[in-house]
Amino acid sequence: MSRDLINAAERAAIQRLADILALPVFERGWVWLAGAGPGDPGLITALGLHAISSSDIILYDALVNEALLKLARPGAELIFAGKRAGKQSCKQSDISHMLVSVARKGMRVLRLKGGDPFVFGRGAEEALTLARAGVPFRVVPGVTAGIGGLAYAGIPATHRDTNHVVTFVTGHGADGKLPDIDWTSIAHGSPTIVLYMARKHAGEIAEKLISAGRDAGEAAAVVSNASCSDQTVHVTTLSQLGVASAGSATPAILVIGESVKLRARLDWIGALAGNTRGPEPLQLVQVNDAG
Ligand code: SAH
Repeated sequence: MSRDLINAAERAAIQRLADILALPVFERGWVWLAGAGPGDPGLITALGLHAISSSDIILYDALVNEALLKLARPGAELIFAGKRAGKQSCKQSDISHMLVSVARKGMRVLRLKGGDPFVFGRGAEEALTLARAGVPFRVVPGVTAGIGGLAYAGIPATHRDTNHVVTFVTGHGADGKLPDIDWTSIAHGSPTIVLYMARKHAGEIAEKLISAGRDAGEAAAVVSNASCSDQTVHVTTLSQLGVASAGSATPAILVIGESVKLRARLDWIGALAGNTRGPEPLQLVQVNDAG
């Protein structure tokens, strides 16, 4: 891959930042498992930035913004280790074993994943392989799409008038089917439900939640390519969530709950783009989920 790298002065500036913040040195033979955030490259953490600029090899996923790779050291090896067009280019076990073998060669190995590495991203599986193999590793958390991505849509994960509880759920089981989850408990216990990887089964999930007592007309949204320049937000209702989610393969976070309505006031990206919808009336159904 051809890439414009940052120059020596810019690299020195990143090193200076690492010194000021007393960030740990990336030692040879270590694996750092880091989150790159949901898309906007600015959402990388200082530790993640330091990791990118000091590693010898970077294995990155499809959801990582490639602009971040410009910060890599000259000569650093960049390996795409994600899914493209629905096809798994690298098997999970191959990736885990590669991490072990390159670390054992004494390289500084960065495993860079979208969002947070320990949220629905198989980072824990990779870390377990490293632990089993006795390879030293560090976890660098990232901004997860279900929080940071929603924030870019003007939808707060919590607000005390709308929800004291938020639940993160995957809509995609290991076998590709809808995971076997206690949807009734989720429907009853969590006013705000955030769904990852749920496009395919969104209709089925909505039906389960409605039959467990959730209001079919409840606010919901589909946030695609969250925090990226091509982010889209489709506000809908729970009963229409399946329809709103279908027909696209872009990564999307689905969110159900009163907090979605706050977007009418908090759509700061829309405001930046000059969308002047004027103040909309905001009628929130107050929840009492504090027990
Ligand atoms: N570790 C990641 C999640 C990986 S699972 C994290 O913490 O965010 C992949 C799923 O994450 C996608 O199917 C989608 O549901 C969600 N996702 C990741 N990036 C996204 C983005 N920019 N916009 C919307 N959804 C995103």
